[in-house]
Amino acid sequence: MKTKTPLIPFEDARREILVHTRPGPPVTLPLEQLLGTCLADPLIASHNLPHFDNSAMDGYGVRVADVTGASMEQPVRLRIVATVQAGETLKQPLQPGEAIRIFTGAPVPPGVEAVVMQEYCEGTMGEVRVQKPVRAGENIRLRGEEFRAGDTILPEGTRITPPVIGLLAGSGHSEFSVYSRPKITLISTGNELVPPGMPLAPGQIHDSNSHALATALTALHLPAPRIVHVPDEYERTCRLFEEALAASDVVITLGGISVGDFDYVKSVVEASGVETLFWGVAIKPGKPVYFGKTREGKLVFGLPGNPVSALVTFHLFVQPALRRMLGDPSPLPACRNARLTTPLQKKPGKLEFVRGVLSVDDTGKEIVTPTRGQDSHMLSGLARANCLICFPAERESLSAGEWVSLEPLNWV
Ligand code: AMP
Ligand code: MG
Repeated sequence: MKTKTPLIPFEDARREILVHTRPGPPVTLPLEQLLGTCLADPLIASHNLPHFDNSAMDGYGVRVADVTGASMEQPVRLRIVATVQAGETLKQPLQPGEAIRIFTGAPVPPGVEAVVMQEYCEGTMGEVRVQKPVRAGENIRLRGEEFRAGDTILPEGTRITPPVIGLLAGSGHSEFSVYSRPKITLISTGNELVPPGMPLAPGQIHDSNSHALATALTALHLPAPRIVHVPDEYERTCRLFEEALAASDVVITLGGISVGDFDYVKSVVEASGVETLFWGVAIKPGKPVYFGKTREGKLVFGLPGNPVSALVTFHLFVQPALRRMLGDPSPLPACRNARLTTPLQKKPGKLEFVRGVLSVDDTGKEIVTPTRGQDSHMLSGLARANCLICFPAERESLSAGEWVSLEPLNWV
């Protein structure tokens, strides 16, 4: 880089981002808008779960002593005195010699000590022949066995997934407090860019980054970002950047962040009062990546324009920051290990994120193979990959069969 700014190590850059990133203000949203956010309050049980003792099976409610000796050969005959289905209640207590036809989810009537699955019963004409003994409590889901009123069902910060939505709804909530989603603007820079669908003049290319990045954001259940395109002109970049900053919590610029004569982003961002926290990380791809923050806590990420660099630095730096803004207490992806199938070489000094395919070999072991097309303009190598292989900064070679650590690429 022109100014010879020292490159900071990858781990320091990531730490710096998380140190400067806070969850957004809490907001109450309806259930259908919660996916991908995190709970801003713990979910506390307002009542016992289950609410009442209920049957876990379709079958017959019985007294244990009545069916002690029951078998296929010598079934016990009981009189069916009532039927209870889910949503009903039955007050009538069960007497010796009686059974109650009961269905899954129905409240267990008084006197019923267990439920015999209907597969072990033959019911006809007001009588059931029970072919198996039961233990007390068998096939009965007890009131409060999962949670008691006042228990914490889920802590604050829990990421909202379909089962969490189920728990919220099942606990009676039609809405819940979550950390608000940040407003984001994407600014793609470059005179050469033309929107897809438009014809290209000589020297022009289609803008792939703003579409790839906007999709990466919506895949995180964030709202569609504002997308702005700016040519490589200092004044216009200044104006559009300041507008973007005023309208957003996070601004992500694409391209123009390196040291070329027409790379204006860093000087524009700094002229707008953004404090630079780092510019240049000892990684490949993505070395010129930039991170800064305004006094009000707005974040600015400057991602390099090469399409692979843009998406890889989004994955490595922006995604964890956004997860943290959404309230996720552990926003970093879990690393995995696998055996490398082919040797790799590089110059020492930078941590390389080699695009790879993690798979399972014939013996059930996890293996990882670099994809074809590793240059940072070759998006196909990233499109085929499902992970990034970490090739440590100080290493010059990795051998076939060696264990390597990798970060799964979880775009969706
Ligand atoms: P830059 O980081 O602006 O120097 O751009 C590096 C390379 O990425 C150049 O070859 C650009 O043409 C290309 N590039 C920049 N922005 C985009 C974009 N939005 N879509 C596709 N390629 C881009
Ligand atoms: Mg450019």
